[in-house]
Amino acid sequence: TGIVTEPAPQVDAAERAAVDRLQHEILVILGKALTIREVDAGSCNGCELEIHALNNPYYNIEGLGIKFVASPRHADMLLVTGPVSRNMEEALRRTYDATPEPKLVVAVGDCGCTGGIFGESYASCGKVANVIPVDVAVPGCPPPPMDILRGILSAVQRRARAGKRQS
Ligand code: SF4
Repeated sequence: TGIVTEPAPQVDAAERAAVDRLQHEILVILGKALTIREVDAGSCNGCELEIHALNNPYYNIEGLGIKFVASPRHADMLLVTGPVSRNMEEALRRTYDATPEPKLVVAVGDCGCTGGIFGESYASCGKVANVIPVDVAVPGCPPPPMDILRGILSAVQRRARAGKRQS
């Protein structure tokens, strides 16, 4: 018997081009690579899987200069999934404080945006914005990688506009 292999996934050329455009726009605005520290503040990991997909060969965001880093001290942006559990509240605050200015925060997923199905309780602080300032919230349970990428771009654009107003 022969070995049965799965057919290679088809690349959606339009989506691939959209990803490239978004990444290019981010790099043009910043003039450098964007570094992101991902923070799981208490999610079910569904949102993490979509974030990790951004690094797979299909989306390949590292290939165009958007890099995930291990320390918030090296990050331009925090990508936070929630809800924020009470156990993670202090850790999230410290992570935010350790991120150098001008920092960006993107809350990912319904739980990060609103508290989602967990809401606020003895165990949950609810949405990310209840604990640290949030620039952009990306809804969805979980949001697909393209929506997360659009949220990242939106945060970068907002910061660029704010920078122009100040100068
Ligand atoms: Fe999980 Fe959905 Fe909440 Fe994301 S938004 S952490 S996938 S329940």
